[in-house]
Amino acid sequence: MITFASDNVAGAAPEILEALTRANQGSAMPYGNDAITQRLEGRFREIFECDCTVLPVATGTAANVLSLSLLSPAFGAIYCHAGAHIHVDECGAPEFFTGGAKLVPLAGAGGKLEVAGLEAAIAGVGNVHSVQPAAISLTQASEAGTLYGLDEIAAIAELAKRHGLGLHMDGARFANALVGLDCSPAEATWKAGVQALSFGATKNGALGAEAVVVFEPELARDLPYLRKRGGHLFSKMRFLSAQLDAYLEGDLWLRNAAHANRLAARLSAGLCALPGASLSYPVEANEIFIRLPDAVADGLEAAGFGFYRWNPTLGELRMVTAFNSREEDVEALIATARRVAGLAAE
Ligand SMILES: *Cc1c(COP(=O)(O)O)cnc(C)c1O
Repeated sequence: MITFASDNVAGAAPEILEALTRANQGSAMPYGNDAITQRLEGRFREIFECDCTVLPVATGTAANVLSLSLLSPAFGAIYCHAGAHIHVDECGAPEFFTGGAKLVPLAGAGGKLEVAGLEAAIAGVGNVHSVQPAAISLTQASEAGTLYGLDEIAAIAELAKRHGLGLHMDGARFANALVGLDCSPAEATWKAGVQALSFGATKNGALGAEAVVVFEPELARDLPYLRKRGGHLFSKMRFLSAQLDAYLEGDLWLRNAAHANRLAARLSAGLCALPGASLSYPVEANEIFIRLPDAVADGLEAAGFGFYRWNPTLGELRMVTAFNSREEDVEALIATARRVAGLAAE
């Protein structure tokens, strides 16, 4: 079965598995006091061009909720898109880890928060009966596979600053976003006003490693304690750090993401040529949301192609390419779809 159901159906990148084997040689001090973990922060600081604090964790949910717990008190309000992973896919972990902060889900075209919507939602300051506006969380690339432009992030950051709110970025697909934006990691984050980043790696080639990256030293002060309480201070931390280290080495993260994005562009272009096909959102990273005639979706499944039936009523499918998706599989899917739709080969 060839599946484009998600990017976490992919295995791990060989470079990362090899790094794990190397990290397995000999003994190393536990809890992050090993050589690999100790050099990791320096690596991130070079890449992000600032003195960021970097703490590896094992899941994106942990990275998100630790970030949010730095930015919001227990009585805070955290504004996010209605489709945000923190709102719909984390089983209340943000509320739990912040000690009860309230997520305020907002509508927004293309899976993105909008300044006007945020402005209208931010309310209740000083009212003892209301949760107090604390933070904004945006997802880059978004849950709709779209990207916030640097100007859009800056506008949201300006609003956050004006209201005294923190700004978090869920970067489970940060590398895919960065490649799509074609800008530096610094420009995509702290230079645009982001204070804390959930830096994803698992979906783009790691076995299971993400990092909380905090761009202001004072903000990060309590993070080590919060991570320990949250159960993500790994005893054999070197194995998390080795994954991230290898992920950054030689720009593996960017090469992997560029591959996935390129195949997503090819796949969506091929499918858009079919009669009745229409994209739900522009394809700006490695996720495709597309409406296709049921007959085409059925034919693809019958031929052994996997994908997500995202919204069956609309005939909307989600397809995601990964760092190791194969060009020939993308071409085979397009060719099959054309055949099922009664078109000649390209
Ligand atoms: C995958 C993903 C995460 C992380 O999920 P985990 O399963 O906790 O690793 C976070 N945010 C977004 C937008 C994601 O797609």
